[in-house]
Amino acid sequence: MVLYCEICSLPVEFCEFGKSFKKCKLWLQSNNNEIYNKLYNSDIKSSLSKEEEEKISNSLAKMQLKEERKLERDLINLQNSKILIKRIPRTKHKYIVAIANLDLLDPNLFDMKKTCKKFASKFATGCSISKNSEKKDEIVIQGDVADEVESYLREFIDSNGINIKIEHVTERFTNKKK
Ligand SMILES: [Zn+2]
Repeated sequence: MVLYCEICSLPVEFCEFGKSFKKCKLWLQSNNNEIYNKLYNSDIKSSLSKEEEEKISNSLAKMQLKEERKLERDLINLQNSKILIKRIPRTKHKYIVAIANLDLLDPNLFDMKKTCKKFASKFATGCSISKNSEKKDEIVIQGDVADEVESYLREFIDSNGINIKIEHVTERFTNKKK
């Protein structure tokens, strides 16, 4: 039976290749002293050759990297699967609103330019379309109107029978002068 480490989740024989070796050792010592002694207190320390150790260490590093990338990708995919209404602080008390992932909507139904004009007159403020860091179009409104935009979009989606989630996020004000 393989004993898995509760700290790094690798089989205990591989803890030394993980990121938390010291913690892992402490955990094993208090949880399974027998195996601990076998692994760390024996004179014939490791039966693995240097070469074998390196091989395992490399493939583990690759595994970890792959897993990290996958998590990152999943997160991006999840974020891109819904319309995001972002309330972005410009100063401590002044917000603008950016709406991302509008490309999820059928452009024949939802015209970004027309909607932008509509928002501009509805909220009596500036509204523009700009590219975000992923080079995708966002509607940017110069005003703290996230709630109004949200109810507008919800109504639009409901009345057109579209099944897309809307998420409303408020970004935190960070004083960049720090
Ligand atoms: Zn471990």
